[in-house]
Amino acid sequence: MDLLEYQGKQLFARHGLHVSPGRAVVTVEDAAHAAHEVGYPVVVKAQVLIGGRGKAGGVKLAADEAELREHAGRILGMDIRGHTVRTLWIEHASDIASEYYASVVLDRSAKAPLVMFSVEGGVEIEEVARERPEKLVRRRVDALDGLRREDALEIAAEGGAEEDVRDGVADALVALYETWRAEDATLAEINPLIVTPAREVKALDAKVTLDGNALYRHPENQGLSDRENEDPIEREAAEQGVQYVKLDGDIGILGNGAGLVMSTLDVVAQAGGRPANFLDAGGGSDAAKIKQAVRLILANHAVRAVLFNIFGGITRCDEVARGLIAAFEEVRPQVPFVVRLDGTNDQEGRRLLAEANLPNVHTAATMNEAAAMVVQLAVTRPEKVGA
Ligand code: GDP
Ligand code: MN
Repeated sequence: MDLLEYQGKQLFARHGLHVSPGRAVVTVEDAAHAAHEVGYPVVVKAQVLIGGRGKAGGVKLAADEAELREHAGRILGMDIRGHTVRTLWIEHASDIASEYYASVVLDRSAKAPLVMFSVEGGVEIEEVARERPEKLVRRRVDALDGLRREDALEIAAEGGAEEDVRDGVADALVALYETWRAEDATLAEINPLIVTPAREVKALDAKVTLDGNALYRHPENQGLSDRENEDPIEREAAEQGVQYVKLDGDIGILGNGAGLVMSTLDVVAQAGGRPANFLDAGGGSDAAKIKQAVRLILANHAVRAVLFNIFGGITRCDEVARGLIAAFEEVRPQVPFVVRLDGTNDQEGRRLLAEANLPNVHTAATMNEAAAMVVQLAVTRPEKVGA
């Protein structure tokens, strides 16, 4: 779960990182109040889940209220590479002497946290990593020890932080690591981490990704997701407790259980198809849940054919068949379905389907056969009309 800059900064502040005081607002009027409260000059910052806001014109300094209103008015509603700005962060502007970079990520291949630091911040770090790799310190941390202060000081020195701010940088690195660890983040990045003329070290930007699977341990963070900017179908699925992931092909996939869904994706890809989404109905789905699943899959208008791959265990195939029949009554799908039912009550499920004689529903005996059929149907079908 990606956080907006100001939400990331809230977490930073919780763990002792220095950030500027500010307010999140959604109107020009509130922006003016906020600026008055935090004190001019202020910086007006678009809150969207994409970097490079500064270059796109989404970060502006304002010396007084007239400038503030002009910038806030222009940035609200702005489109930054497909992300509409609905929220602004107004913070007291900082004077900048140097711009550094710091991050903590999970290095999955090393199974360890990785701390990165560079004195070349404020620019794209990928560029530094590619062109001047010696300028980017990368240090793996033993997860049991955590980032010790002496290690953080070494990183600061090795990275070339100016001598009088190495303590400040080390404190920032330790606090950043602590944010990453304690909040169950997979990424915590500051670009730029600035040094002010008064030699204070603080986070001017924040990019934090929380591990969604660990969110149950952080009830206080559950309100942080940027619901407005999520895919609306994914959001609806999440609200109903269904695993739904949008992909960019044209075959909708429903299975029960993560393993089966994953292998279904593989088999469809092997057969030359491209999944549009996948939905894991989980174990023990009843007809109502299946009906809902069909609705969610078809809400994605890129879908040109749907594959149901059900291996009945606690999920009963007759319930799946009933759900599909109910869905056809209500949703009236315009695209072909391929259904493979196997396992608990499969004969009954197939009998129900045969009896219902649904338009454009094909049954397959095996997973490979089902995949080949659905790919065939998706490519031979003319452009879908209506929905
Ligand atoms: P990004 O472009 O999405 O990475 O947004 P940032 O929050 O990193 O802001 C972009 C740039 O705006 C920073 O690299 C700074 O150079 C500048 N900037 C942001 N806040 C301030 C501030 O308080 N004072 C000054 N002088 N510049 C700022
Ligand atoms: Mn930045």
